[in-house]
Amino acid sequence: MSLQDDQNFARETCARIIANLPPAILKKEAGLTARLEASKLTPLKKLAAIYDFLDDLAKYIAPTPCRKGCSSCCHYAVSISEVEVQFIEQVAKMKRLKVAREPGDFNGQPCPFLVNGACSIYSARPYSCRRHHSLAPTAEWCAPEKSFAGDFARAQSSEAQLAFDLVREMRTLGDIRQVFGSAPLR
Ligand code: SF4
Repeated sequence: MSLQDDQNFARETCARIIANLPPAILKKEAGLTARLEASKLTPLKKLAAIYDFLDDLAKYIAPTPCRKGCSSCCHYAVSISEVEVQFIEQVAKMKRLKVAREPGDFNGQPCPFLVNGACSIYSARPYSCRRHHSLAPTAEWCAPEKSFAGDFARAQSSEAQLAFDLVREMRTLGDIRQVFGSAPLR
């Protein structure tokens, strides 16, 4: 299939997913930002609530070629914020570098948490990893060298993004490799 065929496939799949989301998910999404803004939860607990919603949403994102063992998107740049780093430190017990690496072009380089083709900090993975699902018919366009070929529709939650922007205070530290290093950590 051509790039355009695959983009059309992803667009139709995305529309179908959104049209068929169950009321419970829509209810969980509605007002997420306002609820978190009004709550006295710590930033880490607020982030956990956003992750919990994204994990629930992910159950309805299908069909997707995303599979354990396919690690193409773990070779993309992954931006990360202070609260996400703290979450990884607390949940996955991994420590950041004492001195962060300089910024660079990290596309094509493996994430330091990628071990044997799988994420070794799955329950603590950052926001951008949780919102990344391919809706193309195959993983062909996920390969880092093809990933800029064209835009694909994705099932996103603007409410989750708003909530995340609130919790991370719109700040980013840099790429995950700057914060945790570039070599596999395990
Ligand atoms: S944190 Fe995990 S899911 Fe995210 S890029 Fe790294 S290995 Fe992949």
